[in-house]
Amino acid sequence: MDKNIKKQSVYISEEENTLRWEEVQNSFKKTFGNEIYSSWLQKITLIKEFNDYLILAVPTRFFRDWIVSRYLDKILEQVKSFKLSLNRIEFKIVEENKQNQDILKINELSRITEIKDSILNYNRLNPNLNFDNFIQGKSNDIALSYSKKVCEQTSRYNPLYICGGVGLGKTHLLNAIGLEMQNENNVMFISAERFMYHFIKSIKKNDMVNFKDFFRKSSIFIIDDIQFISGKESLQEEFFHTFNSLMDKGSQIIISSDRSPSKLERVQDRLKSRLSGGLVVDIDAPDLELKIKIIKKKIEEIQNQFKESISLNEEVINFIATESKTNIRELIGVLNRVIAFSRVHNKHLNISDCKNILKDVFNQSKVITVDKIQNVVSNFFNIALSEMLSQRRSRPLARPRQIAMYLAKKMTTRSLPEIGRRFANRDHTTVIHAVKTISRLSEQDDEMKKNINQIKSLLLEQ
Ligand code: ADP
Ligand code: MG
Repeated sequence: MDKNIKKQSVYISEEENTLRWEEVQNSFKKTFGNEIYSSWLQKITLIKEFNDYLILAVPTRFFRDWIVSRYLDKILEQVKSFKLSLNRIEFKIVEENKQNQDILKINELSRITEIKDSILNYNRLNPNLNFDNFIQGKSNDIALSYSKKVCEQTSRYNPLYICGGVGLGKTHLLNAIGLEMQNENNVMFISAERFMYHFIKSIKKNDMVNFKDFFRKSSIFIIDDIQFISGKESLQEEFFHTFNSLMDKGSQIIISSDRSPSKLERVQDRLKSRLSGGLVVDIDAPDLELKIKIIKKKIEEIQNQFKESISLNEEVINFIATESKTNIRELIGVLNRVIAFSRVHNKHLNISDCKNILKDVFNQSKVITVDKIQNVVSNFFNIALSEMLSQRRSRPLARPRQIAMYLAKKMTTRSLPEIGRRFANRDHTTVIHAVKTISRLSEQDDEMKKNINQIKSLLLEQ
């Protein structure tokens, strides 16, 4: 058995290497253990295999969300060990007793309509990420309202550039815009990474004409995670031209990124200036109120879907909202976990149950080191680490340096003299001064407050 797996993992010939699902399932059993396997993974079936992604069937939406939030990375790792070219998994919800029928249907259908591995396969909008279920809060208010405005009045805010940290709802908003517009427009929705994939493939196949045509004919062009183009010169070149030609013909462009255009690193200036030429809006970390609203909405959705009541009291909801600090994706993952637990054990949960269930999530405190802080801060401000640590006192270097010292004090257990030493042997009084200055500024100055929050979430993500 082991021998087989090894053989397959180096065997990457595209045509012949089809997955044997029973073998994959066996490997799931080994990796995840019997309990997880039999309650979750065993129920997953293979619907269709493409060269670089799989479509798998799961019985319910809840099931899918649960799998995605907890096991997706590992599942992908496993299937990759059978077929290296796989890099993505899609789930389709197929009620259990219909699974076999559906697989048949899909296979038949796809024999006729399959546009194998083509761009169209990726231009899919997710019907579950729409405006109706996007909850408004202080942190996303502006981004949401302009996303809606763009749908009513195209080309007025062009491009619309939405930025914000991981898991705060950018893809959701972009997808919602796409759904809203798709009936009356030619909508293209693609991640920058996919855009590159097609770009490279077209170059290899000597098929750039088709590539250009394809992307330039859309009237609504939505591109997710544009920060991905960082450092990729020829991709930027191509994107720049795509962008210009779309703008010329009056197409609406919507872009998302984890940072503002000016903070994009290793991206041509002319492109940055194009990106910021329309309207830039950002999404901040959610406040408690929004987190609570999202939890309640999710509970409602699950209740409607399963026609069963889920009883989480206010106290528990508050607990989850307060403890989950990183982002909305994590918040939903945590909530799913609590709900699954209460379902399996069929009981009303109190706070101490929750604490228990979520022990490993919340206690998994990330190890944050002074090194890491220095790296993230210098990256964030786009300055060289050596300069940040140098003795130069110009403001563009001194502020980031002070911020890094401040965060080192707040987020690690290092003492002031230790921190001083790590900053090119500075005195601890310099560190005290930095901590005081930044504490004061982060109260008075919105920009500073925002920067600090963004850096903190970057640190917590890694
Ligand atoms: P990003 O693209 O910024 O990393 P996503 O759009 O993927 O984040 O959002 C992560 C998860 O959180 C998704 O499941 C999304 O539906 C959900 N989400 C984010 N913001 C909201 C919101 N305001 N209301 C409801 N769900 C949200
Ligand atoms: Mg996203």
